[in-house]
Amino acid sequence: MTDTLIGNGTVVTLGTRNELIENGAVLVHEGHIQAIGKDVTLRQMYPDAEYVDAHDGLIMPGFLCAHTHFYGAFARGMAIPGDPPRNFPEILERLWWRLDKLLTLEDTRASAEIFMVDAIRSGTTSVVDHHASPNAVEGSLDVIADAVEQAGIRACLAYEVSDRDGLVVVADGIRENERFIRSLRAERKSQAEAGMISASYGLHASFTLSVATLERCAVGGAELGVGFHIHVAEDISDERDSTTRYGLRVVDRLEAGRILGPHTIAAHCVHVHSGEMSRLAETRTNSVHNPRSNMNNAVGRMPVEEMVRVGVNVGLGNDGFSMNMMQEMKVAYLLHKLALEDPRVMPGDMVINLGFQHNAHIMNAVFSPFSPSFPAVGEISVGAAADIVLLDYLPPTPLTNGNFPWHLIFGMDGHQVNSTMVNGRWLMRDRQLLTLDEARIHARARELSQALWNRM
Ligand SMILES: [Zn+2]
Repeated sequence: MTDTLIGNGTVVTLGTRNELIENGAVLVHEGHIQAIGKDVTLRQMYPDAEYVDAHDGLIMPGFLCAHTHFYGAFARGMAIPGDPPRNFPEILERLWWRLDKLLTLEDTRASAEIFMVDAIRSGTTSVVDHHASPNAVEGSLDVIADAVEQAGIRACLAYEVSDRDGLVVVADGIRENERFIRSLRAERKSQAEAGMISASYGLHASFTLSVATLERCAVGGAELGVGFHIHVAEDISDERDSTTRYGLRVVDRLEAGRILGPHTIAAHCVHVHSGEMSRLAETRTNSVHNPRSNMNNAVGRMPVEEMVRVGVNVGLGNDGFSMNMMQEMKVAYLLHKLALEDPRVMPGDMVINLGFQHNAHIMNAVFSPFSPSFPAVGEISVGAAADIVLLDYLPPTPLTNGNFPWHLIFGMDGHQVNSTMVNGRWLMRDRQLLTLDEARIHARARELSQALWNRM
């Protein structure tokens, strides 16, 4: 593979280096970043590399999404029959648990493909997915993995086991997780070792998991050496269910059930109290903030700053909203200020830390069980993954490494991403998708989603 030298841009390294290099360049060698510096210097050092001109724009690490649901794509623009749902349990029962039951494997693939297009277009290069299709469980993770492989981004997959559809579907979900996890050490081994595909053991949420199911999954996950991916205290109803039925807060129930740990993702954590935060910190369990989803479902606000203060690694996800993580960052920045009526909370640099540094930690947690030498992501550094995006952003005010977060929040957005590279391979150049046929994907998805809406 020829080396690629991306130059004539402002390199935003983020990471511990956190530097801004004007007239900078990045050398990509075999999927990794090999050198960073001034354009003029690197051009002299690597005259044989293929030169890619960033046209004075930004050269920065790809965005990361630590919690999403590819299967939700067909809900865009869909009307829910009857009166609007009044609360989160009604949203689940009337929208999501009706939609997921109707998904076929073909719908699952098309739904994932919509998100792949969106991810590449908005510069999101690593994604953690949580899938449900209770009437088409077997093979669903393979269908998604094939779409991910075709697209060329990195993804960690999981099937959300739940008792909500009966014992047969529980068994299907367990089998699907375990079968897929095993395939990452067999037929998909090279893809997994390269850090392109990974898996967690998926669990829906405490309130839809029986004692027996939780126990069975704890044993399975431990045997397979993976962490879990579960919704935790997203709505107050999850805490009420757990305390009423088991006499334990949700996090305490999951800890007793051996679900927590450094490879586990506890998404949402809106209603956890301080004792639960300490348990998450102590067990080094990761958590993921999804502000757009939480606002949309009106479930409340994750106490992000408190969580971070007690030592929980809190990342950022989109919970099925668009893959444009800059939007998620902007909403994270605004939500807490309004909710707490305090403009000092959730400063821009903290938002950037959630989206890059903390999310990078989560990616390492979920990819490293299958990829022991999983490279650093979410930063431009020597040895890091060549997951790089180029943006048309000409700062109208001085841009420094110190004020970059506020430029991102107030002036940057997904439409400025013109090129996306993952693992040293261009997935989009000058807004042309190179691995996916967007027109075909969207046309097919429109047909399939219309058919699904009709079935609903
Ligand atoms: Zn979710």
